[in-house]
Amino acid sequence: MAIRILSDDIINQISAGEVVERPANIVKELIENSIDSNATKIEVFLRSGGLQSIIVNDNGNGISESELPTSILRYATSKLTNNNLNEINNFGFRGEALPAIASISNMKIISKIQNQNYASVLEVERGKIISQKPSNRDKGTSVSVDSIFEKTPARLKFLKSNRIETSHCKDVFLKIAISHPHIEFKLNIDGKNIYNFNYEGANYLISSDRMIAAFGDDFINNSLEISYSKNGYGIYGKISYPTLNSSTSFNQFLYVNKRSIKDKKILGAIKAAYSETIPKGRFPMLAVFLEIPTSSVDVNVHPSKTEIRFEDERMVSGIIVSTIRSAISELTRPISKNIEQNLTFTNKGQVKSFEESKNTNIKNYNETTDTINFDKQINFQPSVKTKETKNFPGIIDYPMGAARAQFLKNYIISETKNGIIVIDQHAAHERIVKEEMLLQRKNKKIQSQILLIPEVVKLSSAHLDVVLDNFETFKSIGFEIEIFGDDSVLIRAIPDLLNGANVQELIKDVAQELFEIGTQNSIDQKIDSIISTSSCYGSVRSGRDLSIEEMNALLRKMETTPNSNQCNHGRPTSIKLSINDIEKLFKRR
Ligand code: ADP
Ligand code: MG
Repeated sequence: MAIRILSDDIINQISAGEVVERPANIVKELIENSIDSNATKIEVFLRSGGLQSIIVNDNGNGISESELPTSILRYATSKLTNNNLNEINNFGFRGEALPAIASISNMKIISKIQNQNYASVLEVERGKIISQKPSNRDKGTSVSVDSIFEKTPARLKFLKSNRIETSHCKDVFLKIAISHPHIEFKLNIDGKNIYNFNYEGANYLISSDRMIAAFGDDFINNSLEISYSKNGYGIYGKISYPTLNSSTSFNQFLYVNKRSIKDKKILGAIKAAYSETIPKGRFPMLAVFLEIPTSSVDVNVHPSKTEIRFEDERMVSGIIVSTIRSAISELTRPISKNIEQNLTFTNKGQVKSFEESKNTNIKNYNETTDTINFDKQINFQPSVKTKETKNFPGIIDYPMGAARAQFLKNYIISETKNGIIVIDQHAAHERIVKEEMLLQRKNKKIQSQILLIPEVVKLSSAHLDVVLDNFETFKSIGFEIEIFGDDSVLIRAIPDLLNGANVQELIKDVAQELFEIGTQNSIDQKIDSIISTSSCYGSVRSGRDLSIEEMNALLRKMETTPNSNQCNHGRPTSIKLSINDIEKLFKRR
């Protein structure tokens, strides 16, 4: 076949594949164009997660009638004024967004500049200009995009749920709104006003309203402001106390020169800053803004521009770590108010179930002198002290051996026929709970535990959306959930195996996990991730004294549980030292 240059139309569609993966990318590009045009007011309207339509309306400088057709040409931009890629002060500079979006949608741009008496409207269908006419509006621009991806079904196939697309759009909107408190922002979804953020004053860097919208009500009373600058480098923002944390880094909003970024080095620096104060695997919530001289950062890495290169990475990391550490070290309150409240609430709700489970456990011991009911014992509540320590003859022959001791309240030492095994009780139990839940589901024998006092869990709107979207999935593994008001869910029952879990944290973590895996996963994958996240909550936490019986019950359970040699996060659950290994250590061999 002859070699030929691709047509502009095809090139734009290819480029759309990079710039526009989903409606949220369009929302981002359009809002950024509005900001670049010096708008002080931006309104976003979405229908059906943006799939049906997206409208972004601003009061910025506008586009003149004569330039309007040029705006949708590839590599046409008004922003790279002195042809210098080293000094980028705008969001845009590639001139790629409008042509890419136009190529996969029907687009209408209405715009008016100050010195023009009338507005002009340009209609574009799948990249082709259909008409341009005089129109009417105040200074500014309104871009409306509909029928996205209609002719690109491969892409459409991946966009399954309106609700998830809406969540992504909201996320993009919030990230930008938080970094521009001097701009009024409105978001309207399917005819309903969702956010209405007022102008916060020209010198106002941090907006409480916008942060509450992103991180929830708790954030404001459980966070502190940071601010520092040196040699033209600056950092400011609001960071959560170590006690307000979540299971993923999703609630970390990071910006370089007001551009929302995702950067491993910066995430790493934040992790390091909190390393001594936050439990492993938990992440703080924060909005951190870095101000770096434009000549010292390179944003020209990828069209979606969330990656970034720094001239002096170490300096940037250093500033982050030292500013955050010193802010945290000044904190005197060891535990946040919110966590204290949660603790008392959870305990109150469970007083009776503690008592009940204690009775059942004691009954098990009494009734079964020879055969211990391991299943029930594993599912124990706060440790039940038995009167005497029983010796189980012969269990040393079992693969996981006989429990002899517990140390650091998290490790069990067991003796086997040819050595010892050290077991991480929390990790091991987490795996057992997970496998048990999977098995119950497979056998269609889901056991639920009705909460004595149903718990109201308030969720961010993105989390609420995923929970509602996955109602049936939750139900299929034993959760009973209802909608409660505009922003909460009511939890009536949880899987039996999670008895005693902190329901608030459990639901929030699972919602977060689901939000992150997105729509492209099968139901089974979703169930797997709900179960993985949940099982941690049903598991014996480290820091619990266990009786010898409880330890042995755990070991027996491990022997019959698939994959029990590694926890749900891939870490080992037990380590064996054979007599041989031990003798080598003592140089006897
Ligand atoms: P870029 O933002 O990289 O320049 P775009 O394709 O997003 O490329 O936009 C092309 C051009 O259209 C911009 O450079 C700008 O001149 C103009 N433009 C787009 N949106 C707006 C807007 N909301 N207000 C004013 N001008 C706009
Ligand atoms: Mg742009």
